[in-house]
Amino acid sequence: MRQTQLFTKTRREAPRDEVAKNAELLIRAGYIHKEMAGVYSYLPLGLRVLNKIVNIIRDEMNAVGGQELLLASLQNKETWERSDRWDDGKVDVWFKTAIKNGNETGLAFTHEEPLTNIMRDHIRSFRDLPIAAYQFQTKFRNEVRAKSGIMRSREFLMKDLYTFCRDEKEQGEYYERLKEAYVRVFDRLGIGAETFVTFASGGSFSKYSHEFQTITDAGEDIIYVDNTKRIAINKEVYNDEVLSDLGVNKSDLKEMKAVEVGNIFNLGTKFSDALGLNYKDENGESKPVFMGSYGIGPGRVMGTIVELRSDDKGIVWPESVTPFAIHLVLIEGKDDKARNAADRLYRELIAKNIEVLYDDRSLSAGEKFSDSDLIGIPKRYVISDKTLASGSVEVKDRMTGKVEMVMVDSVCK
Ligand code: ATP
Ligand code: MG
Repeated sequence: MRQTQLFTKTRREAPRDEVAKNAELLIRAGYIHKEMAGVYSYLPLGLRVLNKIVNIIRDEMNAVGGQELLLASLQNKETWERSDRWDDGKVDVWFKTAIKNGNETGLAFTHEEPLTNIMRDHIRSFRDLPIAAYQFQTKFRNEVRAKSGIMRSREFLMKDLYTFCRDEKEQGEYYERLKEAYVRVFDRLGIGAETFVTFASGGSFSKYSHEFQTITDAGEDIIYVDNTKRIAINKEVYNDEVLSDLGVNKSDLKEMKAVEVGNIFNLGTKFSDALGLNYKDENGESKPVFMGSYGIGPGRVMGTIVELRSDDKGIVWPESVTPFAIHLVLIEGKDDKARNAADRLYRELIAKNIEVLYDDRSLSAGEKFSDSDLIGIPKRYVISDKTLASGSVEVKDRMTGKVEMVMVDSVCK
């Protein structure tokens, strides 16, 4: 993409009403637009990053047998009354609105109920199980505090997967497969080193659930980390009993701030009992389906990456989620020599299916470099009269700042 064609502009000043570093940098670099408190739109650069995150998650969900679908946002009140989660006293994040026929509807903040209800039409016998179904879908939550930028918004994309199994054992096995898939997801997203499988409260069906918590001061959670064992305990459940369950010593734990980027949950038969989701076992007996739910917030992940991978100049994207692999920056000279060379290299890179953002604008080197630092593409190629004097391109690593001169002819080899 040529930067002269990119409609978004960078800006020098931080937006005045934004306190979160992630949103501040993403707005300044033109990735997102703040609609209102806790509500953000994704602009072309932002959507490219979001889609990369989504595709890594999708790949790993497909690898464990997940089938993708897309559920409705508007919710049927009756479905939620059956699980007793319609009442605002039970769930305090609902956005609800009236339908013109006098009925009420709510905007989905999660999808256990509607999917359990759908599965009643499709699950009959033990032969149908297990099933894993997932989606990338917009959730709405009337969050009280929305001061963490895209890490906690009132409208956000969620990957939610649900498993449907014959019994506790099968459900437990699927849960382990998903836990491993989640470890791979966060590794591939470039935040594996800071992300810990964290024991959290489990609800009525299992003692613990597992959160994937990423260490950052921008996080709203407190966790206790055992760095050697690579596990952590959420403060909410931190006590002597949990320590002995997990076989960890108090002295090995470090208190840290973290953000929950993912969450996996054994649901048991809570929703299948409430909504009547049963199957016939080998003996023709009716049994309730065992369920699990597994969430990741791609927007929250994107915000977390920015919190972790940025410096005073801007963002430093990991290669796996960068909007473009290369930022090609032309520094114009007195004649067309540099522009012609940059145009040619751009075409060659495109022909090799390499994703390039080409800064072909007529601006000063200083303006272009500071924009490039802000946007944060990990690899920068600079072409100027000076680099061409030795027939080369300057290749700069955004993270280390290391510079290398590479012959123009060999860049695409
Ligand atoms: P939290 O405890 O942070 O409020 P949660 O436990 O309510 O989150 P889940 O219901 O488990 O979150 O949602 C699954 C995933 O969706 C979370 O792990 C997180 O990545 C993401 N998520 C949840 N709430 C938000 C939000 N308000 N904005 C962006 N992402 C969110
Ligand atoms: Mg949580």
